[in-house]
Amino acid sequence: MCIFCKIANKEIPTKVVLEDDDWLAFHDTNPQAPTHVLVIPKRHVAGLREATPEDQALLGKVLLGAQQVAQKLGIGDSGFRTVINSGANAGQTVFHLHVHVLGGRAMGWPPG
Ligand code: IMP
Repeated sequence: MCIFCKIANKEIPTKVVLEDDDWLAFHDTNPQAPTHVLVIPKRHVAGLREATPEDQALLGKVLLGAQQVAQKLGIGDSGFRTVINSGANAGQTVFHLHVHVLGGRAMGWPPG
């Protein structure tokens, strides 16, 4: 079982921010901003490249979960960044779809 499936199943101690039946949001263990949360579908999807039309509603729920996380943690007004790394060249290291929610500092563009 992949590490994020274990987190979704609560088999690994995790700092949960929010969740519902379909998704879970938790603090990243190696934060890249004052606020850095990951939002994952509880059902295993390897990444955005592997998502199918059957995952359409789930993807929408995960994105709205990211919105709720930003509101709950107080970065909704100042602005926040959402990132989905897809594939090794983009920096994906965990192959269970996740949306990074980053905030609490000014962000540069383009990203590295
Ligand atoms: P990726 O590089 O886009 O795949 O992002 C994976 C993220 O997962 C990285 O920011 C890691 O710090 C984070 N991460 C890996 N393992 C754990 C964990 O057990 N708990 C919370 N975050 C994790």
